Amino acid sequence: MSRLVLEDVRPWGGAATTMAAEDGVLVSDAIARPGDVVVAGRGRILLPSFSDVHVHLDSTRVGLPFRPHTGRPGVWNMMLNDRENWRGAEESMPWRATETLGRMIARGTTHVRTYAQVDADCGLERLEAVAAAREAHASRSEVEIIAFPQAGLLREAGSADLLARAMASGANVVGGIDPCALDRDPVRHLDTVFGIAERFDAPIDIHLHEPDQLARFSAELILERIRALDMRGRVTISHGYGLAKLPENQLRPLLEGFREWDVAMATIAPPEPLPTLLLAEYGIRLGLGEDGQRDYWSPYGDCDMLSRTWQLAFTNGFRQDAHIEHCLAIATSGGRAVMGTGAPLASLDDRPGLAAGDRADLVLLEGETPTAAVMDRGSDRTVIHGGIVVADGLELIGSAA
Ligand SMILES: [Zn+2]
Repeated sequence: MSRLVLEDVRPWGGAATTMAAEDGVLVSDAIARPGDVVVAGRGRILLPSFSDVHVHLDSTRVGLPFRPHTGRPGVWNMMLNDRENWRGAEESMPWRATETLGRMIARGTTHVRTYAQVDADCGLERLEAVAAAREAHASRSEVEIIAFPQAGLLREAGSADLLARAMASGANVVGGIDPCALDRDPVRHLDTVFGIAERFDAPIDIHLHEPDQLARFSAELILERIRALDMRGRVTISHGYGLAKLPENQLRPLLEGFREWDVAMATIAPPEPLPTLLLAEYGIRLGLGEDGQRDYWSPYGDCDMLSRTWQLAFTNGFRQDAHIEHCLAIATSGGRAVMGTGAPLASLDDRPGLAAGDRADLVLLEGETPTAAVMDRGSDRTVIHGGIVVADGLELIGSAA
């Protein structure tokens, strides 16, 4: 495999330098040799590639005609709306998942944790679609699949068995959802999720849309099970925005539990965000994701984690460069730490991922400073995965997936 040399790049917006990668990792010897592939950085900012740790590739309508939103409020109603419509889309689910993943890679995201819904309606069909997308882009990205019981585990017969079958069929992470609000039996719901995770020695990701005290109760039950099964570092709470509404004297003890058991969080930067700086203070791994992409749940989504980074900064009300750059660190290295493909951020000012020995999964962005890159979100990007250029100018390189 030839070496890759990146000329005139600015790591995290610092001084211009030359960097090189060999066998998929960054190396300290950056002097170009004959036969090296040379990328002209043109003074662009070099970052680790983006990591999207909360995306629903199994419901996307990106690339299809826009349609009016027909869902009614509430997780169950929205699930039913998706169930009524998803099979009638203009293109197949494998096509849609592959198209959306391709657009994400073209915009700089090469580490992805996606959901694949499993339920009485779709069986393993959506999992197979997402697995096909992962296969189509295997050389350009690293994709983990969360088997996700979107319709709960107790409301429809056979749901728990399907979740286990999904894990046996190539899913990597066991999903759960609103143990109190959706299934109305948090003990049974969580015991099922943790039981399947134990059986498959797999990590867990739980969607938590519940409000303050209910979210707190669910989080306490999750912590109880992490302790009992010694699942330190293997559980992610997605969303969890209800926790942000708790008074500090209730939130801090929970965060201490998260720190002690290394519970990660994934956010989609909603209007009422998680307390991003407080999570950094506790050293809690935080990743960012784009959620549904222009699907039956939501008209939002553009496959661009740089847009979502802007949204994370905006919803937090950040203005200082250090805080906005921290959002970039969350969107890149933070997500990798959630997936276990990179080290956690050590502090608010930590900007890892570009040292010798780190994976050569990178993105070049135009901008005077990292903050300017987030504000302007330009299209002059080059995306590298495994030491190979996989996209340039928002277009994939190589054969069409
Ligand atoms: Zn979600």
